[in-house]
Amino acid sequence: MMMKKFTQSIQNLFKPQEPLTDDVILKFLKVMESARAEEMTCSELFTQLDEFVEREVNSKDAEKIMPLVQEHLDMCSDCCDEYEALLSVLENTRE
Ligand SMILES: [Zn+2]
Repeated sequence: MMMKKFTQSIQNLFKPQEPLTDDVILKFLKVMESARAEEMTCSELFTQLDEFVEREVNSKDAEKIMPLVQEHLDMCSDCCDEYEALLSVLENTRE
């Protein structure tokens, strides 16, 4: 259901008569990406992930100080995996 609606809105954005090709989807994803340009990109996140995880481990209000990082982690599963991996490394090397 949702996927159908999503597909339709992509088709409306571009040429409705044309079948939805991978090219069109990629174009759409690029548009989506630039629309959230003010948010953090994955590579920007990686530059701050160390600090974020360190704050998290030391309970130094990571989410309050770095809300954009938190926001990105909530919506990007790739970065979230990376974050969790880093977090468990730090937790295990603590003491
Ligand atoms: Zn990401």
